[in-house]
Amino acid sequence: MAGVLDREVKYLSGVGEARARLLEREVGVRTIGDLLLRFPYRYIDRSRLFTIGEIDESLESTYVQLRCRVVGKSYIGEGAKARFTVEVTDPTGAAELTWFRGAKWIEKRIELNREYVVFGRPQIFKGRVSLVHPEVEAVEVALSRKVESNFQGIYSTTERLSQAISVKMMHTLVHNAWQLVASSGEAFPDPLSDDMRRRHALMPLREAMYNIHFPQSAERLKQAQSRLKFDELLGVQLTIQARRTSRHKRGGGFLFPRVGEAFNTFYREKMPFALTGAQQRVIKEIRADMISGRQMNRLLQGDVGSGKTMVAFMSMLLARDNGFQSCIMAPTEILARQHYANMARMAEGLGTRIAILTGSSKAKERRAALEGIASGEVDILVGTHALLEDRVQFANLGYVVIDEQHRFGVEQRAKLWTKNQQPPHILVMTATPIPRTLAMTLYGDLEVSVIDELPPGRKPIRTYHYYDASRLRMFGFLRQEIEKGRQVYIVYPLIKESEKMDYKDLYDGFESISRDFPLPKYRITVCHGKMKPEDKDAAMAQFKRGEADILIATSVIEVGVDVPNASVMVIESAERFGLSQLHQLRGRVGRGAEQSYCILMSGDKLSKDGRARLEAMCSTNDGFRLSELDLKLRGAGDIHGTQQSGDAFELNIANLATDSQIMEITRDEALAILSSDATLERAENAGLRRLRDKHRKRNYVDFSDIS
Ligand code: ADP
Ligand code: MG
Repeated sequence: MAGVLDREVKYLSGVGEARARLLEREVGVRTIGDLLLRFPYRYIDRSRLFTIGEIDESLESTYVQLRCRVVGKSYIGEGAKARFTVEVTDPTGAAELTWFRGAKWIEKRIELNREYVVFGRPQIFKGRVSLVHPEVEAVEVALSRKVESNFQGIYSTTERLSQAISVKMMHTLVHNAWQLVASSGEAFPDPLSDDMRRRHALMPLREAMYNIHFPQSAERLKQAQSRLKFDELLGVQLTIQARRTSRHKRGGGFLFPRVGEAFNTFYREKMPFALTGAQQRVIKEIRADMISGRQMNRLLQGDVGSGKTMVAFMSMLLARDNGFQSCIMAPTEILARQHYANMARMAEGLGTRIAILTGSSKAKERRAALEGIASGEVDILVGTHALLEDRVQFANLGYVVIDEQHRFGVEQRAKLWTKNQQPPHILVMTATPIPRTLAMTLYGDLEVSVIDELPPGRKPIRTYHYYDASRLRMFGFLRQEIEKGRQVYIVYPLIKESEKMDYKDLYDGFESISRDFPLPKYRITVCHGKMKPEDKDAAMAQFKRGEADILIATSVIEVGVDVPNASVMVIESAERFGLSQLHQLRGRVGRGAEQSYCILMSGDKLSKDGRARLEAMCSTNDGFRLSELDLKLRGAGDIHGTQQSGDAFELNIANLATDSQIMEITRDEALAILSSDATLERAENAGLRRLRDKHRKRNYVDFSDIS
């Protein structure tokens, strides 16, 4: 028998066919259960009345409630453009209420000289307070109504839905739904044991559900939120940890017990610098995995310029010393070529053969790579996505390194995994440090290594923000630096949707810079995604050899390019970049001994988030801090760009940026539960099984098996 929760919302009083259809289409709510599982994202204290005089910019995006008197009404315009405005006052000031829709209907219901309670979002325009489409209720009615709770939940909505269902009406619907559930005697059965609830001081589920919609106090609301977050994260952890255990049981990692000739010769004779403590530690961690008998799945986080490549190279030498091949996959042609050049140089005299394979490899290079790895003559293959092709067949692949992981999708990684009968060890390197909580969710069963130390002698990069109006000052600064023999990057944003405009910006910029920095004194080169790979490489190579003073580029240079003499990074329209991308770009400079600079150029009008990002960039060089901030500003779904947003768990209430404590508690609980009932088959674990299965259905399925 279907319970109340499975009943369709259209039977709920006040909904009906049309609204039900909208609810389903706009926010995926079909049943009463769906409705109750959408929690408010914000609460308004409805016992609080504001005065008009109190309203300032800081209240602009929030809801306020005013008690005021109507002193004027006017109906302006006709037809589609008609609007209705009402002039209201209270002892502290005057405000204007406006309706663009339903003006006629409202006009009839509002009387001059009467007092109303007005609820809505204020805007301030030319010093005047105005509210568009507020809710208006006669004071007597509003103040005498008995309310379930003084905190009115605000539920997320869409443009269309909000036209059919107001904030207040949504609240009423949820209330009706709750009443129905309560009166049916159907409770929310509690998935947690009394013991677990007691240990973590959690309120019962039913109480939490009630208080999340109708908080009886600020304190109860907090407890309700904690309880619901706990359930959600416990479900996530039960999924992740079960997966981890089953992978460990499968076992079967290649063994690399020898530290042999290639590694030792390199370490003793050829290493160009001493490793940092962090690099040494990470190499040890990797080596421990490689002799553990388990397959390694390790995420290596290290800020830009922290020297991850050296770690990758040396661990690939370990594979070589044990008779295994390895490959390293880079996200761009430029970066793959750079790795190849560096590694080929470092591998000289080590009896180690290196080959490269990219999408634009010519026949000869391609043949050498394919034949070399198939016969086993090549030890290390460097490349791009081309490595994923089916015809890339290794004789004995034992180790895979993926550089700058956020550019690769999940399925792509799955392919590398299958290039040997037994899965190779995997090291995923990223310069976008992921906050611990997010890493635990995205890569629940990945071990994590961190390089938290930059090579010695680096001077922290100085970052400044300039408005476009100060462009000439910026040019003056560039001249000074070029005079000293330094090189400069100027980067333009490139966003798929506005690619045409972006290229126009780049070319306009190029022209203007060519005028201000004329030949022969200044040499400028351009590099962007639309150029042929060979032309791109030629431009980069020219810059790298010091034959150009300025490199104008789109964000293709974002990843990995290494030109120690370049000491200035100018980022145009910096407000359009995400924080992690800005940080990546900045990491292109500061690689030599000179003081380096990053200059963020922006238009005068900045959004709140845009400003916050630029300020964050100017205030810190710490990639981890920026990454946490980014997560807060953008939300977890976005942090890896759209490519991976589907991989993360969709969370209803828990927040990956701020709930790490609950995340860790639930992980320990999940491990304890699974150790006695790995598949949650026992009757007393039925509730936990429900929590887990909520997440099983999601996209997650293969993720941790792969990375
Ligand atoms: P990333 O972690 O961003 O990939 P790279 O591996 O490209 O960083 O290293 C950045 C630069 O630092 C390179 O020029 C590299 O040769 C240099 N480097 C790496 N490790 C050290 C070290 N221990 N001492 C000095 N320089 C180093
Ligand atoms: Mg790198």
